[in-house]
Amino acid sequence: MFETLQPAPADKILALIGLYRADTRPGKVDLGVGVYKDRDGRTPVMRAVREAEKRLLASQDTKTYLGLAGDTGFNAAMIKLAFGDKADLSRIRAAQAPGGSGALRLVAELLQRTRAGATVWLSDPTWPNHLPVMRAAGLQVRDYPYFDATSGAVRFDDMLAALKTANSGDVVLLHGCCHNPTGANLDAAQWAKVADVLLERGLLPFVDIAYQGFGEGLDADAAGLRLLAEKVPEMVVASSCSKNFAVYRDRVGAAMIIAKDGAQADVAMSQMLAAARALYSMPPDHGAAAVRMVLEDADLKKDWETELEEMRLRMLRLRVAFAEALRRQSNSDRFDFVASHRGMFSRLGLTEAQVERLRTEHAVYMVGDSRINVAGLPEDGMDDLAKAIVSVLD
Ligand code: PMP
Repeated sequence: MFETLQPAPADKILALIGLYRADTRPGKVDLGVGVYKDRDGRTPVMRAVREAEKRLLASQDTKTYLGLAGDTGFNAAMIKLAFGDKADLSRIRAAQAPGGSGALRLVAELLQRTRAGATVWLSDPTWPNHLPVMRAAGLQVRDYPYFDATSGAVRFDDMLAALKTANSGDVVLLHGCCHNPTGANLDAAQWAKVADVLLERGLLPFVDIAYQGFGEGLDADAAGLRLLAEKVPEMVVASSCSKNFAVYRDRVGAAMIIAKDGAQADVAMSQMLAAARALYSMPPDHGAAAVRMVLEDADLKKDWETELEEMRLRMLRLRVAFAEALRRQSNSDRFDFVASHRGMFSRLGLTEAQVERLRTEHAVYMVGDSRINVAGLPEDGMDDLAKAIVSVLD
């Protein structure tokens, strides 16, 4: 039976990890995979998460099933984290999901159940997994212009113009903060304008928030999502704890719904849970239980926020130092945008051939579209790196 299959195309980012590992050159630089790293290139378990895990181990006396929505305390805490204290809880529901990816799929399944074959508009470019996840649920995909590779800015007018051509009932997927792969984000005024267009045209916002706390801070990073929640009657959200709690492999995320009223929210939630039943039944407990314990305990929460803020500020310092090194080495302001981008990524605007040369000639690894993971920038080797980048420009 399997003889009819062709091998699935390799995931480019995962393939890059293999090449990097096999590279024996000293001083190699890994700006590839989207995982936060400290100065030593490690991705440690966060202090508060480790403490919560200890408490969990000591206190957990059963591992019996929790139910399709997972840990309800986690779900309530995730709603608060995303929407803030002032959210209208009567019409918001959340279901724990296996990572942000699982949350995206759950929301997509809900959309398919309510409007089969609906069109989801994705930013061009976007996180590559958005496309297969939406398609797997049966949804159609279109894209809206988003990024100007030369200036490193958002093509905001083009984005709005494209959204104005969308049909009522279409879905618009927006990165809540820290756009992946570009690092270019909407400001408050732009979020407000997007909200107006969504309302005018009857479009449903679908916010993917996978880096809350990595950009401007926990609340600031959710400002766009909160503004939408105040203005629009309905909205869906996929959030991930992979990065901001560093629980990548534990698979922790939440799928959230805002409906017109509580009764509709309950019906939508029941459909989303029915979809979960058919996909994987129940989400894995451990990581979500640890995250819930952190968010419910004032001391653990404070410690988590402190460590997250250290990570955020480190990435900001690296951005500034890298932009300065590029300015020195290139004698131009071409890469200044790196300092104003936010989150874990920036897209440098290099060609695939230039990216390839960086790898083969300088042992510098980045994704083929020239996306860099800012957390991988070498604190003590910025000028060498900038020099290597400038050397492949012509
Ligand atoms: N959305 C975006 C934009 C992402 O970058 C990621 C992680 N790379 C995710 C969702 C989901 O991540 P995970 O499934 O690991 O939580």
